[in-house]
Amino acid sequence: MSSNIVVLGAGVSGLTTALQLARNGNHSITIISKHMPGDYDIEYASPWAGANCFPFSKADTPERTYERETWIELERLARELPEAGIHFQNAFTYRRAKDAGTATGAWVHELMKDDAWFKNLLPNFRVLNKSELPAGIDGGSAFTSVCINTALYLPWLASQCLKHGVVLRRGIAKHITDAASLHHTGKPADLIVNCTGLSSLRLGGVEDTTMYPARGQIVVVRNDPGVMAGTSGTDDGPDEALYLMHRAAGGGTVLGGSYQVNNWESQPDPNLATRIMKRCVDICPSLVPEGKGSEALSVIRHGVGLRPCRKDGIRIESEAIAGADGRKVAVVHNYGHAGYGYQTSYGCAFAAERLVKEALKPKAKL
Ligand code: FAD
Repeated sequence: MSSNIVVLGAGVSGLTTALQLARNGNHSITIISKHMPGDYDIEYASPWAGANCFPFSKADTPERTYERETWIELERLARELPEAGIHFQNAFTYRRAKDAGTATGAWVHELMKDDAWFKNLLPNFRVLNKSELPAGIDGGSAFTSVCINTALYLPWLASQCLKHGVVLRRGIAKHITDAASLHHTGKPADLIVNCTGLSSLRLGGVEDTTMYPARGQIVVVRNDPGVMAGTSGTDDGPDEALYLMHRAAGGGTVLGGSYQVNNWESQPDPNLATRIMKRCVDICPSLVPEGKGSEALSVIRHGVGLRPCRKDGIRIESEAIAGADGRKVAVVHNYGHAGYGYQTSYGCAFAAERLVKEALKPKAKL
């Protein structure tokens, strides 16, 4: 029998989970969301991401599995489906000894190792020679990864959902169980998938107080560096970061950034933007014509997004939550993807799908 499912949230987590459920199950699915692809808002992390695949996960965590499974799908999309807006890029990571133990140093620790766990997964991994390292860099690696043009990829995901019969509607839930009455058929939903990102901090019935933002400021420019790169830190404070990635299909190059924990400021800081642009040109002079500085960058826009961080990592769990009328509704959570929501998206959708199947299984009669 077909089940009615409401997926709450239309970021990369909600869209990927809805698509996975729609492709494989006998479900009638509605995505309900305050924001949709095309919107830019501080409450909507997905459009602000670079987005690339720079695996960060620690050993023996579920995130390691999510990253591994997701790479396989992102690699396939980059190879087979240009319309998804994902392309391959030569990637370089640059490590500085002095960043060990800082917030950004800890964030990229696994990524920057010479014997990185993904060295046999992502193609062409190699440790850089000393002669290849820019000034001030103590070590690094090169490999092939992907960069996702989120302005194309999120609408592509939405189109794929539509193609598989998913209905997308605007709506705001105050309490997670409100979503149960928002299925497009007008009938009550059998199950809700919670993909509300950072809003799970305040969403009634969830109120996960271990959620917090890590503010990321970016500058999008027209210049093409020809490569993707990131360092383990900067000399401008422990919560400032340095990365750049050139998006597929005219998406420009995203220059970052920052990792400002518990900072909710939605407006770009012009001084930070100046530092971001200067640092990117310093580490990657091919961004601008020879002999030029950051004044030769052609800015498309400045932006700020809040990474939806969670103290214990991504939450993929099921529970039954009671609404105002006392009736319990089955909920599968998929939120808390911090700075790795794209590069874990398919692995997380697979895990959420397993929990949905489990929750919808007919209960054996005693
Ligand atoms: P969101 O995109 O925030 O979506 C939440 C959705 O829920 C929205 O549609 C919202 O409207 C909806 N919603 C919330 N509350 C309600 C409610 N009460 N009722 C109805 N709807 C609701 N990740 C990578 O993998 N690679 C990168 O290179 C990368 N770079 C990043 C750079 C920056 C600057 C930032 C900010 C993030 C980056 N990330 C990156 C992380 C990635 O963007 C996030 O992990 C991911 O977008 C989270 O997606 P989400 O769908 O869980 O949440």
